[in-house]
Amino acid sequence: MEQALIEGRKALPQCLPNPPVGCVPVQAGSIIARGYTNAPGKHHAEVMALSQVEGELSDVTAFVTLEPCSFHGRTPSCALALVERKIGAVYVALVDCDPRNQGRGIDILKAAGIPVTVGLMSAQAEQDLSPYLIH
Ligand SMILES: [Zn+2]
Repeated sequence: MEQALIEGRKALPQCLPNPPVGCVPVQAGSIIARGYTNAPGKHHAEVMALSQVEGELSDVTAFVTLEPCSFHGRTPSCALALVERKIGAVYVALVDCDPRNQGRGIDILKAAGIPVTVGLMSAQAEQDLSPYLIH
């Protein structure tokens, strides 16, 4: 998650008005990709990271600094993208307080049978992200 937070900081300022999220997928203890929020309409952190690896990811754990988006905005839902790639598990630092999300992204993952752990390094994530979240 520490590495995901570092990725997230690379997103500023081009990601705005989206929050600067970072995502790092890990397989057998090694980081296999890195992603952060791109400019609006371009890849979110999760999709940027997923675009660097091929096939199903059932033995991969994704660390994401903010709950993956559940809604189709300018880009398709990241939660659904993770489900489609059959990600093995997801760690989320912060639940998204955006009323369009607010746990729905996590619900999509859990409904697909993916184990989700929330709150890892949440204090640091809150410090990085809270100025950019929609309340
Ligand atoms: Zn997203």
